[in-house]
Order: sequence, then structure tokens, then C-alpha cells
Amino acid sequence: MLYNCFMEGRIEGGCFCGSVRYNFEKNNYLSSNCHCSVCRRISGAAFVSWMAIPKSCFKYTQGEPKKLTSSSHGSRYFCQDCGTPVVCLLEEYPEHTYVTICSLDKPEDFDPKGDMYTEDMLPWVKKGELKSST
Ligand SMILES: [Zn+2]
Ligand SMILES: [Zn+2]
Repeated sequence: MLYNCFMEGRIEGGCFCGSVRYNFEKNNYLSSNCHCSVCRRISGAAFVSWMAIPKSCFKYTQGEPKKLTSSSHGSRYFCQDCGTPVVCLLEEYPEHTYVTICSLDKPEDFDPKGDMYTEDMLPWVKKGELKSST
């Protein structure tokens, strides 16, 4: 699949403290919530929402995250100052950089289109059934 990296504008994001900043070309990318146990433990959250960006469209504009080899086929990158998970690289998909949607400046613009590793999903996570407590 060929991506056009020249649509107008760039999507920006970064870690909590601002040491790491990145951006990538605006486009429609695959996105998904991952419920696997590695994502859960590394983020400290119930699941992680990812977006797959072609490597040629992605760049760091400030700082570089620290690498953590999280499995035999993948590594995670997080800010070494504040710990925000920013990026994941997978050996079987070497052409993509996986970005945490919630490290984007406007995560509300990127609704994950699916769920992965739903067999590992916590029983109290139910997509589409989240209720307001008020
Ligand atoms: Zn940081
Ligand atoms: Zn995962």
C-alpha cells in the first residue's frame, strides 16, 4: 500500500514533560486499542490505543525516547524523564512506527477503529459501554 505523505499539515504529539516531541504527516492511518498484557503493564493502564504511521512520515522534533526491549520481537520507547510511552516498533512490521494515540496533542481526533488481543481484555473493559458516573 502506498501512502501519500504530502497532505497538508502535520499531527503533533509528545510526552507529558515535553522532553520528547514528534510529528507526522496528516493522513488516515490504521488505529486500534491493544489489550495485550505487555501494553497493559508498560502503560499502567487497561489498554493502549495505537496508530500505525509509515516510518517515512514520522519524525522526532525534540529529544529521543529511551528504548526498552519488551519482547523478542518488539521494543517500546518512552520518555526517560517522565516515563510516557510514546512509540512501539515491531520486527514483523518494520515499515511502521506505532504511536500512542494518547500522547498526541489532540487524541480526541483519532478514534481507534478496532481492538486487538481482546482475549486478554480485562473483564471490566467494555468498548462502547463506558458510562458517565454522574
Ligand atoms: Zn517526558
Ligand atoms: Zn499490546
